[in-house]
Formats: sequence, structure tokens, C-alpha cells
Amino acid sequence: MTIDNNTATSPSSFNELGLITPLLARLTDLQYQQPTPIQAQTIPNILAGRDLIAGANTGSGKTATFALPLLQQLFNEKSSGQACSNASKKGNYVAGLVLVPTRELATQVADSVRSYAAHLNGAVKTVAVFGGVSTNKQMLALRGGTDILVATPGRLLDLISSNAIKLDHVKTLVLDEADRMLSLGFTEEISALLAMMPKQKQTLLFSATFPEQVKALTTELLSDPVEVQVQSAEASTLVQRVFTVNKGQKTVSLAHLIKENQWRQVLVFVNSKSGCAHLASKLAKHDITAEVFHGDQGQGARNRVLQAFKGGEIEVLIATDIAARGLDIEKLPVVFNFDLPRSPADYMHRIGRSGRAGEIGLALSLIDYEDYHHFKIIEKKNKFRLEREEIAGFEIDESLIDPDFSVNKPVVPPAGSGKKKRAKKASKSESTIYQDIWSGSLKSDYE
Ligand code: AMP
Repeated sequence: MTIDNNTATSPSSFNELGLITPLLARLTDLQYQQPTPIQAQTIPNILAGRDLIAGANTGSGKTATFALPLLQQLFNEKSSGQACSNASKKGNYVAGLVLVPTRELATQVADSVRSYAAHLNGAVKTVAVFGGVSTNKQMLALRGGTDILVATPGRLLDLISSNAIKLDHVKTLVLDEADRMLSLGFTEEISALLAMMPKQKQTLLFSATFPEQVKALTTELLSDPVEVQVQSAEASTLVQRVFTVNKGQKTVSLAHLIKENQWRQVLVFVNSKSGCAHLASKLAKHDITAEVFHGDQGQGARNRVLQAFKGGEIEVLIATDIAARGLDIEKLPVVFNFDLPRSPADYMHRIGRSGRAGEIGLALSLIDYEDYHHFKIIEKKNKFRLEREEIAGFEIDESLIDPDFSVNKPVVPPAGSGKKKRAKKASKSESTIYQDIWSGSLKSDYE
């Protein structure tokens, strides 16, 4: 069964989804006014035990989509005494398994699940396990089993081999960000884990994109699934722009935009760990303090940097793609592609860090002539096309303009060029849009 996002009539209030009172009370605490499209379309089906394939990315509200029914199912079982007695028999059991690609996402999803469970009186135990930290604490947390386990595949296999947990009582399997998990090379781990679970179970698969590998997995795993394709909440609120710059001018252009627009929380993506430190030191020369976030840092350092960035103590965070997925940073206003991501799917993951859950966001890419071809592929694969723009004061050499595009000239020409009136007229519609967006920040560029 396929549910089309545009035509389906779905419940418009949480009360209509069939959720139990303590979960509804928590949603009220959290001031969730109404279900997001994916929640409205799928929660009743998940509660009815159906398998699910959901095309949805971070920002769509997908965590609550699987967490609420999972909590409800386990809470009801416990209340009826079923799970308690089973648990004591099973020892190192797990009932609901959520597989995620990264440690950050594991922590974040487990935190969300615990938060949604706030009124369930501690009846549903949730544990997160992930690599990069010692296994001891995780083994301790798994003693006596757990109702919900949020795990990265590699660490879960380690824990299984030390007998800390068994998968033979898994009733519900959630594959979160399946495309990311497979693209990170977890195919073998996932196959090994699937072989340890009962065949009879409910499976919920979430993926932002559906490359062949994911399609193969869905065919193998799911039985008569409900299929849903939703636009994430940010789709309507995320503005994408691409600026062409001369080769060697990306740093100075980035520094200029950050200062001009007085951005206070910018996530900048580069493609390598060394590129993070390199860009941070170059920005320092422009009096911009930036921190880095990549896989070579210890977990503690990464947590500290992330908290500081979330808390607004760090204004510019330069990250590799490890930060591109699943990080729930509320209201991140600006995401920058300093280097273009290698894959078109990663482009979508990166820009999904901005404009979360109905907030306005901005995703900017800086391209020089060596990036033109690659950016066109990103556009084609992701089915969008952006106008090329230039940054005032950083116009590109005429000879380097992509012949496929007429580059939009900057809306505010460099001082003294005498073209200000013409530019102002040309950008009127943009001006209207962006005044709404930032009430002040980019606005000066358009007035
Ligand atoms: P997710 O896509 O699960 O990462 O969720 C993105 C953000 O949306 C998180 O900060 C959630 O707390 C929030 N969220 C999820 N569902 C709703 C909802 N129905 N109303 C408002 N916010 C929500």
C-alpha cells in the first residue's frame, strides 16, 4: 500500500492516532501542536503491526514516528505483565531494536525515546550503544536486558559476541537512515545482525534516499509494507542558494558572508579532517573563531564541541560528513557547503541540518569552476536547479562563467560602481522573500 503525501487524508490531531494517554500527555508537554505528515500517515499503521518503508529524512519527525508506537507496544505489554515475566526469563533480551548509522544519532535517538517515555513511569528501559567508547558501561547498562536498544551495527555485533545481548527476542526492528548505514559500509554487519533475529517481526525502514542497495534490503526484509514518501518539514522552509566564486576565493567569500550577515551559528562542511583545521586557521586570519568536528576527535571532545555549538558558544563549526546526519541542532540558521559533498545524497543530508521542523533555514554552496560539473550532477540527481549567484565584491572572471548558466549579478554592487539602482530593481522579488526570512540579517544586501 502506498500513501501519497499529497492526496492522503490523514489525521490532523494526535488524539486521532490511537496513542495512549501518557504519550499524548508528553506530546502536550513538548508543545507538539499536531502530527507531522509522516506521523499522521504512519503511526496508526505501525500500531496495527504493519511493516513500513518511509522515504523521510531528519527534520520530518521520523523519530517520534517509530518511537511512540514502539513505546506504546512495550508499555502495554509490561502493563499486562507479559513483558516483565518474559524479561526475567530472557536475561539479555531486547524487544525493540533501532539500528542507526552514527554514534551521535544513537545518543540523540535514545534521548528522544526517553523523553517521549517521560510519563511511562520508567516502565520501558532504553539503552544506547555505539563505538568509540569503552564497552564496559554499555555492558553494565545491558544487564538484565533492555526493552529498546538503539545501536550502531559494529558495536552491537561486538556486544553480541561478548554475550552482553541477544537478538532472538526482537519483535520490532527499526532501520533508521538505512541509506546512510549502507553507504557507510555496514552492509555485512546488517546481514549478520538480521540473521540473528527472529524472521517473524515488525520492520520499519526509514531512508532519505533509495539507492539499489536499500531497495534490495527492503525487498528482502519487508512483508506487505505501508509505503510513505514525505517531504521533510524543512522542505518548505529551507532556502538553497549557490554562489560562484573564483578559485582560491572561497575562504574570503565565506568570511565576508559570515560577517556581512552577522551569522551566529553556521555549520560549514568540508571533505576532510585536515580540511577542517586548515579552514579554521584561515578563518582565524579574518578574525572568525571556528571549531572543528570530525571523526578523529575523541567522543568526549565531540560531545563538548557539539554542546557548545548547540548552546551558541561556538559560532562557526567546521565539520566533515560525520556531522551531516541526524544531528538535532535546533533552529540552525545556516549550513555551508565549502567543499561540495562527494555524493548527491550527502548534499541532501547536509542541508537537512538547517531549517528543522518548520524553522526557516538556509543552505549555501560555494562553487568555483572546478565544482561546476559536480554541482550539476548534485542538482540532477536531487531534481532541483538553482540560479547561480555572485557575491558582491567577489565577482568571478567573465571567462570562468559556466556557459550553461547566466550568473545572477550581485544585488549590491561594490561601493562606487554606480549600478546600485539597477541591481536593486533586479532583486525586488528576492528582497521580499529574504526580509521574511531573517528580519535583518541578509536584508541589508537587498535594500
Ligand atoms: P526528527 O525528524 O525525528 O529528527 O525530528 C526533528 C525535530 O522535530 C525534533 O526536534 C523533534 O523534537 C521535532 N518534532 C517531531 N515531531 C514534532 C511535531 N509533531 N511537532 C513539533 N515538533 C516535532
